[in-house]
Amino acid sequence: LSFSSCNLPKKLLQNIEAAGYGMPTPVQMQAIPIALSSKSLLASADTGSGKTASYLVPVVSCCASFRLQHSPEYRKPLAMVLTPTRELSMQVEDQAKLLGKGLPFKTALVVGGDAMAGQIYRIQQGVELIVGTPGRLIDLLTKHDIELDEVMIFVLDEVDCMLQRGFRDQVMQIFRALSQPQVLMYSATITQEVEKMASSMAKDMVIVSI
Ligand code: AMP
Repeated sequence: LSFSSCNLPKKLLQNIEAAGYGMPTPVQMQAIPIALSSKSLLASADTGSGKTASYLVPVVSCCASFRLQHSPEYRKPLAMVLTPTRELSMQVEDQAKLLGKGLPFKTALVVGGDAMAGQIYRIQQGVELIVGTPGRLIDLLTKHDIELDEVMIFVLDEVDCMLQRGFRDQVMQIFRALSQPQVLMYSATITQEVEKMASSMAKDMVIVSI
């Protein structure tokens, strides 16, 4: 499998090349075709494996392709990535911006530590992807109107870490605000609790282990 055989938007392929990604890594080879076929997946992948791009490539492709076909005046988020920390969310957003350059693909970062008003304003201007941490997203959801009914892809990065930090109920609450999205779940270790969460979110989840 190569990136160019994946039927990705041309601009995305150029961005992948510009980022210096030659060949897909093993997790990318497995996860990208599954995610592009709209299936949910649970992948065991460590940091350094290229796991971030393994979900961002399908996310950018799916959002940008959808937006090229449907471009309403008010653009609601089409994808959401949850991570356990502010730092990881920032890294994910940076990589998403790189991959989405030149495409109809805008991002918003929703993490603690920054003013919430700016984050809300950005979402209201129209974004395709929200990246954030569970705590801040719950704040935003409960205090303000953000419409998440068009979110098609829900990514949970480092799920085991989110569970360790006690974010289970918040993650589930966010999931319930969405309308049956495709779920892409990543965890360094697949514990029973991770499996339980996965099966409560999606039936027929494809397991990816490297
Ligand atoms: P991650 O596991 O997502 O933290 O990625 C680790 C590093 O690998 C990041 O700096 C990425 O930019 C880089 N990377 C991701 N995919 C590829 C690829 N196919 N080829 C080379 N580098 C990559």
